[in-house]
Amino acid sequence: SPTIVWFREDFRLADNQALHEAVRHAQPLICLVILDDAQPTGSAAQWWLDGAIHALAADLRTKGGDLLVLRGPARRVMEQVVSATGAGAVFWNRRYDPQGRETDTAIKASLQAQGITVRSFAGALLHEPWTVRTQSGSPYKIFTAFWRAACTVPVQAFLRPAPEQMVFAEPGPALEALRLAPGQYGLLPTTPDWAGGLRETWVPGEAEARARLADFCRHDQVDYAQTRDFPAKESTSGLSPFLRFGHVSPARVWEEAQNSPSSEKFLTELGWRDFAWSLLFETPDLAQRNLRPEFDAMPWRADPKGLAAWQRGQTGYPLVDAGMRELWHTGIMHNRVRMVVASFLVKHLLIDWREGERWFADTLVDYDPASNPMNWQWGAGTGVDAAPYFRIMNPILQSQKFDPQGVYIRRWVPEIAHLSDKAIHTPWETGCRGYAAPIVEHTLARTRALAAWKAL
Ligand code: FAD
Repeated sequence: SPTIVWFREDFRLADNQALHEAVRHAQPLICLVILDDAQPTGSAAQWWLDGAIHALAADLRTKGGDLLVLRGPARRVMEQVVSATGAGAVFWNRRYDPQGRETDTAIKASLQAQGITVRSFAGALLHEPWTVRTQSGSPYKIFTAFWRAACTVPVQAFLRPAPEQMVFAEPGPALEALRLAPGQYGLLPTTPDWAGGLRETWVPGEAEARARLADFCRHDQVDYAQTRDFPAKESTSGLSPFLRFGHVSPARVWEEAQNSPSSEKFLTELGWRDFAWSLLFETPDLAQRNLRPEFDAMPWRADPKGLAAWQRGQTGYPLVDAGMRELWHTGIMHNRVRMVVASFLVKHLLIDWREGERWFADTLVDYDPASNPMNWQWGAGTGVDAAPYFRIMNPILQSQKFDPQGVYIRRWVPEIAHLSDKAIHTPWETGCRGYAAPIVEHTLARTRALAAWKAL
């Protein structure tokens, strides 16, 4: 009987343990994707998911197979596929978000009750959340301690090229009738089609992920530690959405990045990713609850106009606006700029970090339910291992320091592109028609934020 390989966040053929073990266990295979509306995904990430499915389907076709894409509640769909194909086993790689875990646990129990073999594997993280613990068995709350401990635990290292020989089962007429054809996944925007910038920027898929990784290891990594904070330098790997959708495994990134002399900083960033997932594992409501409860009393402002200006990149602060426009256009934003815009929303505008988290969740192609809320709580000062609230980033100084020639700003805020390298950080001083005046004055905003925090 066939074995079902259920792809979820692991759109790759190489280094994919569930797939490899299924090939070893019992062919023929049914390669399956289920589009389940209960599994939350933002709009930009849905666009990516569409591309990820197409890319995986194309890769499977080169092996003589195909990908069965169905829509509906995962548990019901899985039952249908098992009964229609007579599958004797279902294999998948584990996911760690609360919703996904709940679904997987329920499906596993119900399949096993019917005598079906279910096997799950690691592959999305360097260390699964429960493997890095304090001596008393509790989770780490501080990154440096977490990472020190994690570095003593071997990484999940399943490294294999795509299986050579794969045999595929026919799904049969009942499933053929339900199968979604490409173009029917319902993941792409219709009107308006806002995805033009995403299409210009990205090619989802395993081949592109591996090419980027190779390129990064060849060229960029040498300077990574020095240049990663400068958005115009584009010296970071650009791998985050590829990691998110599993086009490449973190174990593969870890392996290939090892040999570079300055890899330590880069690998530590991958550690932050693991840390975020371990935090979400312990704190399923990470995107809803202040990890520091004293912030529950914070007098956040209701400011729909300010929020809209921030979302559209119309705050009058060039670096903030450049970042928000980059995000809107491409679905990504440089990490340093993410920190600046997050601080601006939470401190300068005194708007609840959860508003920002939601906007990022909808617009980032690399959005994940662990890294996004963890980084927001970190920036807002509401997280456990967070920058203290009173450390308020000055958007002008950040701009002068990390985009000194205004190269990044000019790319995204063309209205002020003609200003000098000096004037571009403070366009209000020279007067610049066609560009927003600052929606809030820096010193006043800073004083207001500190007063709100002190009153807690
Ligand atoms: P590189 O510098 O090349 O880093 C390599 C990899 O390490 C990244 O691809 C990513 O997987 C991981 N990484 C790096 N920094 C972090 C970090 N601070 N936290 C977790 N993982 C990290 N990253 C996401 O993947 N998804 C998110 O939803 C997300 N939301 C964020 C929200 C805010 C407010 C902030 C400040 C940061 C957020 N990040 C998020 C982290 C970081 O900005 C991106 O991972 C990074 O910019 C991706 O670019 P890169 O792949 O070139 O990174």
